[in-house]
Amino acid sequence: MTTTTFTKKSLSLESKDASSKANDSNGATFPRKPKIGSAKSRKRDIPEGIWTKCPKCSTMLYDKELDENLKVCIHCNHHFGLGARERIHSLVETCSFEEMDAEMVSADVLQFPFYPDKIASYQKSTGFKDAVVTGIGKIGDQRVALGVMDFSFLGGSMGSVVGEKLTRLIEAGTDRGLPVIIISTSGGARMYEGMFSLMQMAKTCGALAYHAKARLPYISVLTNPTYAGVMASYASVGDLIIAEPAAMIGFAGPRVIKETTQSDLPPGFQTAEFLVEHGLIDAIVPRREMKERLAYYLDFLTVGQKQIAALG
Ligand SMILES: [Zn+2]
Repeated sequence: MTTTTFTKKSLSLESKDASSKANDSNGATFPRKPKIGSAKSRKRDIPEGIWTKCPKCSTMLYDKELDENLKVCIHCNHHFGLGARERIHSLVETCSFEEMDAEMVSADVLQFPFYPDKIASYQKSTGFKDAVVTGIGKIGDQRVALGVMDFSFLGGSMGSVVGEKLTRLIEAGTDRGLPVIIISTSGGARMYEGMFSLMQMAKTCGALAYHAKARLPYISVLTNPTYAGVMASYASVGDLIIAEPAAMIGFAGPRVIKETTQSDLPPGFQTAEFLVEHGLIDAIVPRREMKERLAYYLDFLTVGQKQIAALG
């Protein structure tokens, strides 16, 4: 096990900022707010990587401010995707995260055409070996086994590495008597690994069953989007299931369901808000409050164990 410290420096966002500044044709060291004009002039005036347009309210957001606000729009509360390392950085106490199995890579058992090239290219672009980061860290004063998925690595798809890393994390949680938190975002099982991907559904849930038998809590956090094989396995069996606002959550996507059932879907179908109303998830927690709320839930869920420990 190696200790990994996440600093602001390690976040890709800052380097993106720096490279964009270098590309600024005006030679200005400080980015200027774009002028409002035609689509053509707007495209020319906005240095890529410094401003991001909110897809919900169309406000131009300064990237640095967006990063400081954990990638949540300050105007309309739209939650952009957040990388695994940034998310871990936002949740655990400084220097407390010990990453596990960071070097585990897929063996390409099916010898699927171009799969190794695809993996290599995503490893290069994301800096990850696969779509999940796992380890033991502290949230508040509680040590937890924490797994965080990253959608930027092949759509957060669950192959044998994601399944194995999460299983080892859950088993480490069981052995050490720690709560498990898994933060999911995924398009589902990884088709390049066929049945080996699907097997991860049973394996992770099996490990969670032993974890539950040890009377340890498991919190599943669903972020946008969480779908298919991930939602049909470990993401939906939490003692507590919470989601970020407006996260899309389901098994098959709305278009597939609509085409299959040949019927209109209710408004807000598969959103976190719809699912909390219908009882599939327990709470919606905004990203800015996530750490505080997780610490509160952990405190609540481990109170019995603390009392037993106090009794000796
Ligand atoms: Zn917005």
